Amino acid sequence: PAVGAEVSLDDLPLREDLRGRSPYGAPQLDVAVRLNTNENPYPPPPELVTDVTEAAHIVAAELHRYPDRDALALRTDLAAYLTSATGVTLGATNVWAANGSNEILQQIMQAFGGPGRTAVGFEPSYSMHPIIAAGTRTEWLPAPRRDDFSVDIRAAAAALREYAPDLTFLTSPNNPTGQSLEPAELAALIDAAPGMVVVDEAYAEFSDRPSAITLLATHGHKLIVSRTMSKAFAFAGGRLGYLAAAPAVVDALQLVRLPYHLSSLTQAAARASLRHADATLATVALLRAERDRVVADLAATGFDVVPSDANFVLFGRFADAPRAWRAFLDRGVLIRDVGIRERLRVTIGTPEENDAFLQIAADVVEQEL
Ligand code: PMP
Repeated sequence: PAVGAEVSLDDLPLREDLRGRSPYGAPQLDVAVRLNTNENPYPPPPELVTDVTEAAHIVAAELHRYPDRDALALRTDLAAYLTSATGVTLGATNVWAANGSNEILQQIMQAFGGPGRTAVGFEPSYSMHPIIAAGTRTEWLPAPRRDDFSVDIRAAAAALREYAPDLTFLTSPNNPTGQSLEPAELAALIDAAPGMVVVDEAYAEFSDRPSAITLLATHGHKLIVSRTMSKAFAFAGGRLGYLAAAPAVVDALQLVRLPYHLSSLTQAAARASLRHADATLATVALLRAERDRVVADLAATGFDVVPSDANFVLFGRFADAPRAWRAFLDRGVLIRDVGIRERLRVTIGTPEENDAFLQIAADVVEQEL
């Protein structure tokens, strides 16, 4: 046994409000087909791998020095990408970057949430939002979606006026359900929310809808749009999340970010990866087409499928979702039980992976799981 193994969690003077909580835990299993964490199934192309390697080589000679604390070159590149993707002219002062958008969200809650403050999210949604709220001692107030997982904008706006939260989280497209919100709907909710509003756009590249970034010109005093390179950009292992907002929001986050939080290796690798954005993002079109095929196939098999604007699909209904999840796993396909009754979530993979998944899905229906 490990040194100290006799010490249990209960023996530690852990914060009372963290006692009994569970960590985030998508299973990381060594399975042939992994369709459980919404990654891009296509590995980076060889030119990108070469570029990242060369960039790391150059940076390695300077590793005795701290990285650029402000990650200015990377933020400039990210701003250029967002400008070309959304048509909204952004500069480095509009962009902030961190180790995954989870760290972005954590910094936002540290700066705008915290003890005595509240945050609202419309559930089911991304499970890390309440976990980061707990870690920063921001009181989490869940608000409901409709039974079909869409947001009832009138009811949501009323809830925001009633709760008057310091922070509101809108996830578009929403994980794990897949639906997205129109800019006009987002604007209505931002207008109703008295505090800061975070639109979590981790899956924006897969969506047909315009980005909330188009609202920054009118709603910059309270809007933060969070993005990530983990999904469309096929850079989940690189850990790079970012946001677009008014420069003052970026200034606010400087008060809570750890100095040198983004390593020189991360900054260089992310910049190299961005230089190949055209190649990487070309996979998005393939994945969107595959998503539509998977949705149609699942529906034809008799599943109830939630319409998706992302690179994953929530489907059901299973008599016993955990058992059905097991049945997929036993046959070599790892999907996700997101804790929604009767439903499971599958990430869109390569055509071969999707075929394997769909084959099992048809068998699972026959077994009436
Ligand atoms: N937001 C949403 C909605 C997500 O689904 C995820 C990843 N599952 C994230 C943020 C965080 O991703 P990352 O930290 O890799 O950027």
